[in-house]
Amino acid sequence: MLEDKNTQKTSLAELGEFGLINHITQYFTVKNASTKYAVGDDAAVISNQDETLVTTDLLIEGVHFDLSYMPLKHLGYKAVMVNLSDIYAMNAQPTQITISLAVSNRFTLEALEELYAGILLGCKNHKVDLVGGDTTSSTSGLTLSVTAIGSVKEEKVTRRSGAKENDLLVVSGDLGGAYSGLQILEREKAVFKVNPNNQPDLSSYAYSIERQLKPEARKDVIELLKELNVTPSSMIDISDGLSSEILHLSKASQVGFHLFEDKLPIDPEVIKICEEFKLNTTTAVLNGGEDYELLFTVAQKEFDKIKNHPLLSIIGHACDFRGGCQLINGLGQQIELTAQGWQSFDEA
Ligand code: ADP
Ligand code: MG
Repeated sequence: MLEDKNTQKTSLAELGEFGLINHITQYFTVKNASTKYAVGDDAAVISNQDETLVTTDLLIEGVHFDLSYMPLKHLGYKAVMVNLSDIYAMNAQPTQITISLAVSNRFTLEALEELYAGILLGCKNHKVDLVGGDTTSSTSGLTLSVTAIGSVKEEKVTRRSGAKENDLLVVSGDLGGAYSGLQILEREKAVFKVNPNNQPDLSSYAYSIERQLKPEARKDVIELLKELNVTPSSMIDISDGLSSEILHLSKASQVGFHLFEDKLPIDPEVIKICEEFKLNTTTAVLNGGEDYELLFTVAQKEFDKIKNHPLLSIIGHACDFRGGCQLINGLGQQIELTAQGWQSFDEA
């Protein structure tokens, strides 16, 4: 599906490991005072006054991404976003990342330039410094590992475990878009296999495709909470699906949840795609992952500060742990939530 418009091809062997590292890191400049020394030594040096947070993610071609519809620049951007999202989910500010790469000789310098252009954009948009990494060859495909480092004052650290009974359950943005976008991309890939000359018009699915290919970590939500002077009692980002994340908050906090189906924030385009694919929209929202929105709980006394805010939806509340996690539909019926979100070992 993706046409390679870049005609120049430079094999990675021509540059060698150090030439490659110098080449792809040359456009990165340091933006954070806490970054004392970035790329170039045996280890980066970071100096923090507050708490330091660390998170890492591994992305494997064919398992986590498909380069037939994922442009390398988008992959670079997304790899950064999924890590920054984990730092934001702790109510913290990301400050540095490291990138480790295993690449087969199928990839050219120009391909890695594309990947790093996405990484650079992610760093720029979120004021994060690239401070190191590792580069090695692989016998097949591309493997990418990103580690993000962040910081926050001790009293602001927000874990999964702080939700209390009666707290409000809040989510940012809208849900189900990334999953709907994936359905479209998978369908177009199948069509392309049969008819490579087919030029699909994807403009009416633009929002969902962008949610899948170019997710944005919710820096704005963390800034908003700070402005509103609200510290969530618990928080998690939505990578595997709403249902799975609610169950994580429930287990860590030892509370149950009531989630109201009619409160779920869903873009009209997602509803349209679900109709097209004969999928239940609520199921897509509960089980479809990769929205990278923030899901959090706040004390009831914060209600006035967050109600009616366009970025935030109150979708439920915490209850007694023994009641479990229940979806309440329009008829008032309760349906127990299960984690059908993607689980890596189920597929092994
Ligand atoms: P070492 O052999 O000591 O691990 P390397 O020669 O692999 O060091 O790396 C040299 C420098 O380049 C280090 O600062 C390392 O963090 C950085 N680096 C290596 N690969 C990457 C990469 N893919 N992206 C960003 N920085 C990298
Ligand atoms: Mg090394």
